[in-house]
Formats: sequence, C-alpha cells, structure tokens
Amino acid sequence: MARRAQPERTCVGCRRRAPASDLLRIVAVEEEADLSLRPDPARRLPGRGANMHPDPACFAQALQRRAFGRALRVAGVPRDEALAEYLTRQPPRPVNRPGEGR
Ligand SMILES: [Zn+2]
Repeated sequence: MARRAQPERTCVGCRRRAPASDLLRIVAVEEEADLSLRPDPARRLPGRGANMHPDPACFAQALQRRAFGRALRVAGVPRDEALAEYLTRQPPRPVNRPGEGR
C-alpha cells in the first residue's frame, strides 16, 4: 500500500539507513577559526548537516573513519568535544517521562 515514506538518512557512524527522526543532525560551526561539531536536535541550524544515531558507538565509528569532515564537506577534522559531551548526557534511547515538558 502507498504508505507515505518517512525521509531516510544514512548514519555517518554505522552507515545504516534510518528514519531522519531517529537520527541526530550534526552541523559544523565555526568557532575562533576552528570548526566544531554541534548537535542540532531541533534540526534548525543552517548549513550542511550530517546524520548520526545519538549513540556513542556510532560516534566512535564516525570519528575513526573521519566521516564528519566528508559528510559536512569541511577540510580537516572538526573538533568534537561539544558533540561528545552532548552524547554522554543523552540516554541511549529517548525515554518518555510523563509529566515533563514545557
Ligand atoms: Zn548509527
């Protein structure tokens, strides 16, 4: 049947395709002449984005293959501290906590 297909993206870490809503958008932001990876969970930041599972395992794979520079079309290897910190604060899977939210 003609189910409306969700947009799919490829994770830069494990290279598996997944619905865009399951992946974290990542952009490179210029910071004092350095490029820095930034998570963009709202998918609102301008520019080219890379997509990755919000999973430290995928992050490690992406770093190993230097996939971010390629996916974001930037020269060299962008700094990843901000993104690494974001991932350590993320639960592996989003949990719905009733009674929370603004
Ligand atoms: Zn992945």
